[in-house]
Amino acid sequence: MSETRGRFTFRGFSLSMHTMMKPMSQSPLNIFRTAAEWRRFRGTLAPGQPIAFVPTMGALHEGHGSLVKLAGEIVGRGGHVCTSIFVNPTQFGPGEDFARYPRPFAADVELLAQWDAQSLFAPEREEMYPHSGPAVTVDPGSHGEVLEGAVRPGHFRGVCTVVAKLLHIIAPTHLLLGQKDFQQQFILRKMIADLDMPVQVITAPTLREADGLAMSSRNRYLSADERPKAAAIYAALSQAAADIRAGGTSAEAVAGQLRKAITAAGLRVDYATAYDPTTLAPYTQEIADPCVLLAAARLGSTRLIDNVIVQFEPARFAAENQPSPPSPAPPPPGPTNPPMK
Ligand code: AMP
Repeated sequence: MSETRGRFTFRGFSLSMHTMMKPMSQSPLNIFRTAAEWRRFRGTLAPGQPIAFVPTMGALHEGHGSLVKLAGEIVGRGGHVCTSIFVNPTQFGPGEDFARYPRPFAADVELLAQWDAQSLFAPEREEMYPHSGPAVTVDPGSHGEVLEGAVRPGHFRGVCTVVAKLLHIIAPTHLLLGQKDFQQQFILRKMIADLDMPVQVITAPTLREADGLAMSSRNRYLSADERPKAAAIYAALSQAAADIRAGGTSAEAVAGQLRKAITAAGLRVDYATAYDPTTLAPYTQEIADPCVLLAAARLGSTRLIDNVIVQFEPARFAAENQPSPPSPAPPPPGPTNPPMK
């Protein structure tokens, strides 16, 4: 597919920016570049129609696909699935990969059509931030200062601010987020609860490659040499989860083992640790139930993150937050809204 000003050529057809016919489907993928365009369209949807929203930064993979498909299942035939692609500059720090972040827009549009998304909001930077950057931003609170926030100062302020803007624009009934970015979904749930945003959050399981590597847009940075090594993160997390279930609950020992295993594979660890997934507080002594093991590590110039929930009693934490087995098959939808203290 190629793009010219305002029109796309897709599988031999030239189509307006607003309507991309899905292959083998009657319903269009509507593409909106401005909030005003989307709002005009939203006004034509039936009142009370459920709208499930899947925000992304593009460079889509089957992990994104599982969220889009789950969104379709949640809203059903009478509902609407809206996605967004926006590489949000305010969540990248200086020296991070904003400039080189992949932007394969035409391929993304084709995937969204295949996954039966109905709308795509894909604004330019100027549409979201017409005056360079926002003067008023959303403070993620103390949860934004640990883990990813400690390594990437300002990251969660950028994430919260852009997602708040997107929620105001799209006004969905449901928001789908991935467990892959555990801290992100935790903080966004807090933002939505604390600021009384009227949207239901669903956290979907992490889709993985056959060797367990969590699917990520950044995996395409990995060289052929690096790619097999990247599986060490999930292997280490899975081994640590098994050790905890077998009674090895010393937080220090678990963190040490995680770090050792990931480092041995040739990665540089940013953090590898055990937290309480309901409070996002670290376990410092004995790990209790439930627990989320989180790790971030660098391989060459690529930074990878992953996490695994460890449960002692299956009923205590919502099923969608269980670690999914290393399989590319999309997992079944789980119940919504895990407990949060
Ligand atoms: P991103 O485009 O990386 O900002 O991700 C958009 C959404 O997709 C976020 O809610 C992510 O947590 C989610 N996501 C990313 N990777 C995966 C994956 N491997 N499995 C399921 N969801 C994912």
